[in-house]
Amino acid sequence: MAASTSKASIKLGFVEEETDLRLLSSHFFPSKVGGKPSWLCLDNIPTPENLQCSKCNGPTLLLAQVYAPVEIEHRDDTFHRTVFIFACPNAPCCTFGYNGNFKVFRSQLPVKNDFYSKDPPNESIGDDEDMDKYPHAGKFQSLCVVCGVNGTKKCSQCKKTYYCSKAHQVADWKAGHKKYCPEIRDDTKAGAGPQQPSVNLLFKEFELVTEDEELKRGDSSSDNGRSEEERLAEYQQLMRSQEIKGLEGNYTEEELETTAVHETEDDQQFLKFKKRIESEPDQVLRYCRGGEPLWVSAHHKASAEEIPKCLCGAERVFEFQVMPQLLNYLKLDRLGSSLDWGTLCVYTCKDSCPIGNKYAEEFLWKQDFHSER
Ligand SMILES: [Zn+2]
Ligand SMILES: [Zn+2]
Ligand SMILES: [Zn+2]
Ligand SMILES: [Zn+2]
Repeated sequence: MAASTSKASIKLGFVEEETDLRLLSSHFFPSKVGGKPSWLCLDNIPTPENLQCSKCNGPTLLLAQVYAPVEIEHRDDTFHRTVFIFACPNAPCCTFGYNGNFKVFRSQLPVKNDFYSKDPPNESIGDDEDMDKYPHAGKFQSLCVVCGVNGTKKCSQCKKTYYCSKAHQVADWKAGHKKYCPEIRDDTKAGAGPQQPSVNLLFKEFELVTEDEELKRGDSSSDNGRSEEERLAEYQQLMRSQEIKGLEGNYTEEELETTAVHETEDDQQFLKFKKRIESEPDQVLRYCRGGEPLWVSAHHKASAEEIPKCLCGAERVFEFQVMPQLLNYLKLDRLGSSLDWGTLCVYTCKDSCPIGNKYAEEFLWKQDFHSER
């Protein structure tokens, strides 16, 4: 994803369901949703402690990663740059306005770095091509076989299978490691050895593709210049059509009438939100580094004082937001989860400060659709 040069330029992200998932591995520098992280810096990846949910202390899972290089004068270390968002899959950790069940990390590398060749990767992967010859984080540390983060614990029986947490070890044991463990233990061949099908606890994996947001003539985030009746009519029509997936059922017909008549600040913000995404209702991401998020509600917007500064001392700026539409793609039912959000706004260091071969934690603000009732 190219850096946005002007504040008005917004890139929209969409899930692409047809991608060969092998094209989402680290050396392709992907933007993607779900699956295991395709780490950018392959060494010093965040520890399980860094990635623990602040509410239940359980492991978080990759929700999305966004490849977003930025151009900074006199700096070459942001040539590659990826921001990763992790989310705790436990629905009870997802409470109103709370963000401790999300973790965000930034990684960046110069074109000449310790991991990747400076030539763009070959995009045509043959069926039998061995992905193991490409750079990946598993060559620098042991990875949890379940979720792909740092595997600091290992199975005490085979001593060859690594986990980030007790939770993932238990899940994997039940899902088949119990059966495969002795085979893996006794395998003396170098290389892959017996392949245990891995338990799938992850958010469903998709490529994330982007395009510029095109505003139709007369379309804007402001409602100036239109009469009260026009706005009311449009609002009611929008609410009735309820065509935006994932936003359905928030209002009953009755509530709609009352709120429309006594239009509150909150409704106006929601109207703005719906209007803005109307032409591209499947957008799952809005990228505009240094711009403003599109709030879903007038309540619980992040104010500048509420965004903590980066460790380097610089302010953080808005970079992108995850839209509620993403919830429809994650197959949360399969995970028995019911995560929810209005929008997830990611704020990163204004200077994208130099971090070498390390990961820097960044900040996420969760806004929900309605004020708490
Ligand atoms: Zn949790
Ligand atoms: Zn794990
Ligand atoms: Zn084992
Ligand atoms: Zn910084």
